[in-house]
Parts: sequence; C-alpha cells; structure tokens
Amino acid sequence: MLSTIPNWHVTAHKRKVSSGVESQCTIMNKKGHVLNAVLLSIGLGYLLEPAGDETTLFTIVAIGIPVTLGALFPDVDTAFGKHRKTLHNLPILGLFVAFPIVFDNLEYVWIGVLTHYVLDIAGSKRGIALFYPVWKKEFGLPFGVAVSSNRSTLMTVIVTAAELVVAGLIIYEVPLLAIDLARQSIGF
Ligand SMILES: [Zn+2]
Repeated sequence: MLSTIPNWHVTAHKRKVSSGVESQCTIMNKKGHVLNAVLLSIGLGYLLEPAGDETTLFTIVAIGIPVTLGALFPDVDTAFGKHRKTLHNLPILGLFVAFPIVFDNLEYVWIGVLTHYVLDIAGSKRGIALFYPVWKKEFGLPFGVAVSSNRSTLMTVIVTAAELVVAGLIIYEVPLLAIDLARQSIGF
C-alpha cells in the first residue's frame, strides 16, 4: 500500500513536519531574544542616564529599538544559510561594530547581535559557531537550558542580569581604572 504513494509526496510530508518543529523552536527563541533585548535596553538606559526622567526614557527608546532589531537578526540564518552558523559568528559581529564607524548608521545594532550570541551560548543547550566559516565547531556552555523548557525565561532573565553587571562595570569602573592608570603614569 505504502509503495503506491509517490516518493515526492512522502518527502513533502516529512518537510512539512520538520519545518513545523523548526518554526516552533524559533518562536520560543524569538520570545527569549526580544525579552533579553528589551530588558537589557531598559537596564542600559538606567546605567547611562540614571535620573529616571525623560532623558532615561529617551535613551531606552534610542537604544531599545536598534538593539531589539539586532537581537532578531542572527536567526535570519534559519531561512538563509546554516542556522547557528552563517549569522552567528564573530566576523558578522565585527561587521555590525564597524558599520556605524564607516557609514554613520545602525548604531547600537551590534549590541543586539552580541546579546543574541550570549543568550544562544549561555541560555540554550546548543552553542553557536563563533569562528564560522573558518571553524565550524559550535561553542556553548554546559549549563544551557533547552529552548522549549519552562526555565528558559528564567535563564533569559539571569543572562540579562549578568550582562548588565558587565555593562555596569564597563560604563563605571573601566573609566575610573583608566583615570587611575593615567594618573600613575604621570606620577600623581
Ligand atoms: Zn540564534
């Protein structure tokens, strides 16, 4: 009976099933990436403009929109290229870091791309191919949580909090350290 079904039909059915599973995972992913980008932008807004007034809100919007767009970008490789490889690597991040310098446009998008990588590495079981296309190996952390798990939202919040601690250190501690070093070097 089965043999009477043409091969193309079976293949088409298989494709339909597998793309259904893929899109379900991607939806879970997008939720996490948007939550991460929005929370990160709110935190960055307060770190950069701590007053809590309209300047803070303005900063959150100015950072939040490009960061959220940047955070959605890497998963475009589910449709074009190899997922977690083609748009999930350091050369792509480098392009987004260089873009505003060269074209005076797309400022802050790189933060979204970077936070997407961090969340894929730390917040999910599968890693990403950081050095693609030179090295196809996917790098991840052993404590990753399955994308579809209930704990993935909690993991997203924890990762975002850790990112904000690092951002806070960079924004506040690094300039102080640089001033100290400068003072020492000129003998004050
Ligand atoms: Zn991804």
